[in-house]
Amino acid sequence: MAIDATQPYDDENIFAKILRDEIPNKTVYEDEHALAFHDINPQAPHHILVIPKGRYVSWDDFSANGSDGEIAGFVRAVGHVAREAGMVEPGYRLLANIGKDGHQEVPHLHVHIFAGKPLGPMLM
Ligand code: C5P
Repeated sequence: MAIDATQPYDDENIFAKILRDEIPNKTVYEDEHALAFHDINPQAPHHILVIPKGRYVSWDDFSANGSDGEIAGFVRAVGHVAREAGMVEPGYRLLANIGKDGHQEVPHLHVHIFAGKPLGPMLM
C-alpha cells in the first residue's frame, strides 16, 4: 500500500526499526549520515537501498527540511556505495519513490540503486 508522503514521520516504520537495529539487514555501508543495505526483494541483480539517518518521510521532506550537511552527506553516501560496488561502469540507476502516485511503500526516505544488467529505458 503506497503512503501519503505528507503524513508525519512514523517512528515505527520498518526502516526506522532497521536504523535502531531492531530488525536485521544486510548492510553494505554506514556512516554518520546514511545506511545502505541490500533490498530484501531485489528487482535487479544488484539492488541496494540507501537511507538517511534522520527522520525524513520522503525526498520531499528531506530536500525541504534536511540540513545542508545531512543532504550533502547523504548524496555523497549514495555515490560512494555505487562506486565501491563497481557500478559506475557499465552504469546503474537511482530511484526514489515519493507518495501515493510514486508508489512509496515505506515512509522513510530511501534511494534505490539498481545495477548488474542493462536496465532498459524508463517505463514512464
Ligand atoms: O520505494 P518503495 O517504498 O516502494 O520501496 C520499499 C522497498 O523496501 C522495497 O523494494 C522492499 O523490498 C524494501 N524492503 C526491504 N526490507 C524490508 C522491507 C522493505 O528491503 N524489511
